[in-house]
Amino acid sequence: MDGEWRSAASGATREILDPADAKPFAVIAEGGEADVDAAVAAARRAFDEGSWPGTPVAERAALLRRVADLLVRDREKIGLIESRDAGKTVEEGRVDVDCVADAFRYFADLVVGEGGGRVVDAGSDEIHSVVVHEPVGVCSLITPWNYPLLQASWKVAPALAAGNTFVIKPSEITPLTTVILVELLAEAGLPAGVANIVTGPGHTVGARMAEHPDVDLVSFTGGLVSGTKVAQAAAADVKKIALELGGKNPNVVFADACDTAEGFDTAVDQALNAAFIHSGQVCSAGGRLIVEESVRERFVAELARRAEKIRLGRGTEDGVECGPLVSAQQRDKTEYYVASALAEGAVLRCGGKRPEPSDVRPEGGYFYEPTVLDRCHREMRAVREEVFGPVLTVETFRTEDEAVALANDTEYGLAGAVWTADAGRARRVAGRLRHGTVWINDFHPYLPQAEWGGFGKSGVGRELGPAGLAEYRETKHVYQNLAPKPVRWFAG
Ligand code: NAD
Repeated sequence: MDGEWRSAASGATREILDPADAKPFAVIAEGGEADVDAAVAAARRAFDEGSWPGTPVAERAALLRRVADLLVRDREKIGLIESRDAGKTVEEGRVDVDCVADAFRYFADLVVGEGGGRVVDAGSDEIHSVVVHEPVGVCSLITPWNYPLLQASWKVAPALAAGNTFVIKPSEITPLTTVILVELLAEAGLPAGVANIVTGPGHTVGARMAEHPDVDLVSFTGGLVSGTKVAQAAAADVKKIALELGGKNPNVVFADACDTAEGFDTAVDQALNAAFIHSGQVCSAGGRLIVEESVRERFVAELARRAEKIRLGRGTEDGVECGPLVSAQQRDKTEYYVASALAEGAVLRCGGKRPEPSDVRPEGGYFYEPTVLDRCHREMRAVREEVFGPVLTVETFRTEDEAVALANDTEYGLAGAVWTADAGRARRVAGRLRHGTVWINDFHPYLPQAEWGGFGKSGVGRELGPAGLAEYRETKHVYQNLAPKPVRWFAG
């Protein structure tokens, strides 16, 4: 914080576990409320008295581009650390770094391309009226463990592009790549105090960041329960908030998508990817397959056959396709949802248990087999709630209306997909889905230039795209009278 690395005020530390073997591989400062107060004070000074908010846009953009270059330079190292910290494959870790660099470049281009304010026609040559955007101030940025660096970048890049200062708190279980990001910001030349990081738990560090009176905006990505607490804490001072919360994302497959062998193969392959990439620990995971009844058996049989073959192991090892879950708690949660679905009548098609010790290396990791649960229905908890594990539930429909009703029957609304060979139906269904991202004949891609976020309880506000920058700005109308005269409203 304030340009220097410190121990926690209390001196406390935390061991970071490798989820593939549950053994510690790093030690990090365990910050507390006093550390948040010091970090917010540094960010406040840097905003109120420092140069960053007034730095010309072109210079801010140049710094963001330097950060992107540094990320690319350190891609292998960062990808590896993300893999060990979050349990993802090292290739996913590398792809995350590419996406992070893209986010920094996108926001650099966006602010440079904007020009000055928007001149408004006030109806008179004697009035000059312009709408301008200014940084919000000090931002608290709180991020989750599943995409630690990527989620951080969706906040850090626009916050800096807009001229803010910030305190960031990564998840206490996956903090390492966010520490590296803050190091790279300093290497790129960001002034001291603009970017501050406090590592530590949500209920102390995160809670203080959400309520701190000198913070102007809280941007949070994480679960619904913590997000609600953050919103309540921030409400006391009417801080601006942005919330990116969970999802329960439908993947709707019409029979006509499976009419050709190629179409069938593609839809099954992508359903597999939708549900099981990063062991299903993805906010937009397609964990809810809603398939037309006439193709259900063929589709689910092929899906289960392929899911059984997914190779589990440490994400840094060659040939491994899925790593472990991130923690014992996350595996317990997954086991709970599978058990509850089976008790409620679901039919297990594959998985449903931890792998045999002889089937996965190393030992002791938080592995869980990719699981397909057939014959599910919308009242099941595993269908309604976010599992955040490698679990796919299968429901069926007979008509387009029924498919849409099922897909929209969730309190969330983050993302969903429709698979069909009928272009008219694709557009109709996409138009009726109440989700922030809708894929047609695809699943998972996102673009930095397109907004990301959710309807319903999936959140408030958007990340990425122009709206993702607008979150970090105040809008100001400057109305200049070039020929002022008395208004004589009052006669006296
Ligand atoms: P989480 O809510 O447990 O934690 C997220 C962050 O909030 C962590 O840094 C945590 O320490 C902190 N936190 C916890 N309690 C807090 C409190 N009371 N006040 C302030 N901060 C607090 O979530 P998680 O388990 O780390 O991440 C998984 C969740 O994140 C899933 O629900 C997933 O859907 C969601 N997510 C959403 C998106 C999106 O773009 N919508 C992206 C990634 C993850």
